[in-house]
Amino acid sequence: MSPKISLANLSFTYPDGVAALKNITLDIPANEIFVIFGPSRSGKSTLLRVLNRLSDLVEGAQHQGAVTFNNQNIFERDVNVTDLRRRISMVFAIPTPLPGSIRDNLTYGLRMAGIRDVQTLEERVMRSLKQAALWDEVKDRLDASAFALSGGQKQRLCLARSLALEPDVILLDNPTSGLDPLSTAMVEDSLYELKRRYTIIMVPHSTQQAARVADNAAFLLDGELVEVGKKSQLFMRPKNKRTEDYITGRFG
Ligand code: ADP
Ligand code: MG
Repeated sequence: MSPKISLANLSFTYPDGVAALKNITLDIPANEIFVIFGPSRSGKSTLLRVLNRLSDLVEGAQHQGAVTFNNQNIFERDVNVTDLRRRISMVFAIPTPLPGSIRDNLTYGLRMAGIRDVQTLEERVMRSLKQAALWDEVKDRLDASAFALSGGQKQRLCLARSLALEPDVILLDNPTSGLDPLSTAMVEDSLYELKRRYTIIMVPHSTQQAARVADNAAFLLDGELVEVGKKSQLFMRPKNKRTEDYITGRFG
């Protein structure tokens, strides 16, 4: 099967000259959890942001190379960036519900997209909450304020908000930061369910989480792709000394 997203010689340099990504080539298969891990400042968040061109917002930054999604280079002039960001959807580390009810949070983006039919909206609300493994906890209080939810519930609500818009790929930057172990497990469980339908690209909060949730993983160091491979190979028999040193805790 052809990959969902392909990076070919991708480089990204911030306006101050920091080369955050250096000549990265890798394929991201469909319907799996692809983990991008490495020490802080290695370029993980930059890589996620480039994938749906949120990186366009950094004025004066430069990129080279290509990112192919649905047989098209996302950097081409005729790409509709709004549509790209709906199809490759980012869920941020700090969950930020919108003011309003749980239901409002889910229907807002749909209304913006022109969906007004009440039944369609209700169906999307239910389906996205179920997919994010939040439905059972909130089904009796959809009109309650989203701010009353716990941290783990807010994180799953933000995930559901992305899912309501029916993306193809979900980008998760450290989605369980600040969550207790039980909430972390619930978010991880929802990801296992979601990969059947979506492609998930995730920056984990730890090497342990990377080794737990990944199908394939890529190790970044200082903007370079050191190693990419299946979880069983990369975490058990790394090919590169720097990968081994990092996963055995010798640095980072
Ligand atoms: P990670 O997510 O792995 O911690 P980042 O992608 O955030 O790494 O950062 C990679 C490098 O790019 C770092 O040197 C960081 O300082 C730099 N960087 C990140 N964001 C910006 C920005 N908006 N402007 C300038 N430099 C940035
Ligand atoms: Mg980061």
